[in-house]
Amino acid sequence: KTPVVSTVRKPASKPMNYSLLISDLHLDPARPEHLAGLEALLDNHAGKADRLYVLGDLFEAWIGDDDDSPFNRQAIAAFRRFSDAGSELFFMHGNRDFLLGDQFADDCGGVLLDEGTVVDLYGTRALLMHGDSLCTEDHAYQQFRAMARDPQWQQGMLAKPLEERRALAQGMRMQSQGNNANKPENIMDVTPAEVVRVMEDAGVRHLIHGHTHRPAVHDVALKDGTGTRWVLGDWGELGWWIVADSDGLRLENWEIS
Ligand code: MN
Repeated sequence: KTPVVSTVRKPASKPMNYSLLISDLHLDPARPEHLAGLEALLDNHAGKADRLYVLGDLFEAWIGDDDDSPFNRQAIAAFRRFSDAGSELFFMHGNRDFLLGDQFADDCGGVLLDEGTVVDLYGTRALLMHGDSLCTEDHAYQQFRAMARDPQWQQGMLAKPLEERRALAQGMRMQSQGNNANKPENIMDVTPAEVVRVMEDAGVRHLIHGHTHRPAVHDVALKDGTGTRWVLGDWGELGWWIVADSDGLRLENWEIS
């Protein structure tokens, strides 16, 4: 008996749908390789990735959507190519770019998400945060955060002339370089009890955040089982992302040339 050999190949499965999550690029004109890395990511995945989530500290400093520096315009143009190709784009504030506004998001063709948004990633429900609010032991920072997130304070800041804000941001950059504020050992880590609280409040098994510059995947003991805390890395010599698809989530890195 002749074995039946099918000559009809299965139809090519439709392209795998996936989304990407990144944070803490700390884009700065002083480090053009990170903007180049972002442009490569956006152009490689434009129209292919369903969604890109940027979970804060995209920029080392953001002094208002009216700052039309060539560097900012270059970043916005890259996001625009991505969204124009049909991929969706979401932004969350970090502790450095808390002045990112709707104008910026509109210019990029994206949407600003509230801190602590729950999304469905191909069947994995995940709570998205920048992560700074989880560092409750850093009392001085939490005080600054409360001030910097206050709409009245923000309005006052945005009302200052652009040149004055540029000078303020430059001062903050120099201070941050002096403090090595981006070095992980100088960023307080999350408070474990706060992680459990936000995950149980949101009713999720997965939390994704950045901010601490301690990329890792942690188990979290929740009331009803074990959850997972996914920590994105900051971009330095390596770039970091989480890829989400129907197989779940993966934290990956690559070398930034
Ligand atoms: Mn941060």
